[in-house]
Amino acid sequence: MLPSIAVLIAVGMAVYVVWPLLSAETAGGPLPLDVTVLGDLKRRRLVVYDNLKDLEFEYQSGKIAREDYEALRTNYLGEAAGLMAATQEAEQLKQDDAVVEREIAARRAMRKSQPKIEYKCQACGYENPLPVKFCGECGARLAVPGKKQG
Ligand SMILES: [Zn+2]
Repeated sequence: MLPSIAVLIAVGMAVYVVWPLLSAETAGGPLPLDVTVLGDLKRRRLVVYDNLKDLEFEYQSGKIAREDYEALRTNYLGEAAGLMAATQEAEQLKQDDAVVEREIAARRAMRKSQPKIEYKCQACGYENPLPVKFCGECGARLAVPGKKQG
C-alpha cells in the first residue's frame, strides 16, 4: 500500500469521527462563545480538518501542485496530531481539576489558619515583600517576628 493512501485513510477516519460534532455545532445556529481550553482546541482541530478537506478538493480539481499538496497535508496532519494530543492532555487535566481544586481549597484554609508574618516597617509603613532585617524603603531595622529585639 502506498504511504499516501494510508494517510488518506487516516484523514478520512478522522473526518468521519469529527464530522458529527461539526454538523451538530453548525446546525445549532450561532456558536456559543466557548472559552474553555477544550473548546478552543476542538475549534482549532475542526479548522485544521476543514483546511484538509479544502486542500483535498483543491488538489483533486488540479488547483495546486502535488508537492504543495503533500507538504501542506503533512503540515495539517502534524497540527491535527498536536491538537489531538493537547486535547487528550486537557481532558486528563479536566479530570484532575476536581482533585486540584480540593487541594487548593485545603491549602487556602491552611494559609488562613497560619498567623500572617508581617514585614511592615514600623517607621515608614512600607510593606516589605520579603523577610528582611532592614526596611527596603527607609532602612529602619524591622522587628523580627518570633524573636526578641536586642
Ligand atoms: Zn521603612
